[in-house]
Amino acid sequence: MERTFTLLINGEAVSGASEFDVINPATAEPFARCPKADANQLNAAVAAARGAFPAWSATPVDERAALVDAVAARLQERMSEFASLLTREQGKPLDQATGEVMGTVFTLRAFAQMRPETKVLRDEGGNRVVEHRTPLGVVAAITPWNFPMILAANKIGPALVAGNTMVLKPAPTTPLTTLLMGEIFAELLPAGVVNIICDQNDLGPLLTAHPDVAKVAFTGSTATGRKVMASAADGVKRVTLELGGNDAAIVLDDVEPALAAQKVFQGAMYNAGQICVAVKRAYVPEGMYDEFCEEIARLARETVVDDGAKQGAKVGPIQNAMQFEKVKALIEDARQRGTVLAGGDPLDRPGYFIPPTIVRDLDDDAPLVREEQFGPVLPVLKYRDIDEVIARANDSDYGLGGTIWGRNVARATEVAMKIDSGTVWVNQHLAIDPTIPFRGSKQSGLGGELGQSGLHEYTQAHVVNAVELEPAA
Ligand code: NAD
Repeated sequence: MERTFTLLINGEAVSGASEFDVINPATAEPFARCPKADANQLNAAVAAARGAFPAWSATPVDERAALVDAVAARLQERMSEFASLLTREQGKPLDQATGEVMGTVFTLRAFAQMRPETKVLRDEGGNRVVEHRTPLGVVAAITPWNFPMILAANKIGPALVAGNTMVLKPAPTTPLTTLLMGEIFAELLPAGVVNIICDQNDLGPLLTAHPDVAKVAFTGSTATGRKVMASAADGVKRVTLELGGNDAAIVLDDVEPALAAQKVFQGAMYNAGQICVAVKRAYVPEGMYDEFCEEIARLARETVVDDGAKQGAKVGPIQNAMQFEKVKALIEDARQRGTVLAGGDPLDRPGYFIPPTIVRDLDDDAPLVREEQFGPVLPVLKYRDIDEVIARANDSDYGLGGTIWGRNVARATEVAMKIDSGTVWVNQHLAIDPTIPFRGSKQSGLGGELGQSGLHEYTQAHVVNAVELEPAA
């Protein structure tokens, strides 16, 4: 327990009303204490954000953007410190943690380049109609535990550039990198512009229902997203929901099975499968099914699973005990219904380690196929024709992402057009870019993040419609 972490309220580093342990998932042992806010501190954080709003929203947008850019630069200077803390609290291998910190820097920088757009809708015959974009007020930003830094940046960048102030609440199992970012906010931003509070899954409802919160920007599970939406209803708050997914990867029959297996494997196992847009079901033509299964199982067996802090680790532990139990239960159920080709058993060591697991011969109604596993377990399913596989891929309440693999890009793109998801990638995966909008369809989300439209989600369209007065009689 080497260092002390603090909340950030009105520019001050403050202790929590109480504390709780943060567990390193690679050891299942606590390694730090996290300050826990109570309802009074939550109210103080919202009041600080509200108090900071008039001056921050009146600050010229170029100055606000320059400060967001300065935050990115400071974060870049402290990259290795953030990356090692991220590995310790989240579990991901150090190179992936470094990638997340770099992605956070890149995202903040990209938003620092964007500006809310003012549009002249009409300017004729003395009638001038202009659509301005004004900030909303206090944004409550709530993040999950799989990418705590980058998912916070997706909200901080647009919220601040657009002129809002914030209360940020990380997930209880990965709060520390967010608190460490608080040091940079305290150093560079006016007091109250960003406030950070931590909880043990108890303060979310108070935050989303708070009358002084104008918008809730939520990333997390669909189940919690529903509660957030219900709670925001009272104040008719703006809300964006980035929720769960059950993305299909469809392999077309003109790709070499070994290449397809390699691509699908990477898409399923990065961050131990704990990605909203990880490949969560793979559909493979029957003619190459056996070969594909053998190849992807071989890749699974060869993968180095270890503490993310150890050099060479490719897959780290599951992030927390609850998720570990959930993934184990899905594997046990799948074992009864299909064939486990690789992995399947947790590692016999402390920590929440499940090796990459490949399951074949499952029916479409198996829980591992229908539910979001959010772990390093992939069902590989056989298909006969394209229309059938498109219908099966779309037979889900989720619609977040998806990938199509095919040598003939035009044909693969045609398939992509028929997948009912917010994003479908062709011959690439995880090509998330802060300048490209990202959003879920169906129960994978509401509204969106990233891109110009993601920036506009943090604004109110404000139309001023002016005509000249007729001459006095
Ligand atoms: P979760 O829904 O359990 O928790 C997310 C956050 O919500 C945490 O900060 C939690 O403390 C908070 N919370 C809990 N109860 C709340 C309530 N009643 N009101 C308000 N906030 C509350 O999600 P998780 O398990 O941390 O994350 C995994 C999920 O996130 C997966 O389903 C994954 O697909 C999804 N996710 C989606 C995206 C996306 O962009 N669509 C990105 C990453 C993760």
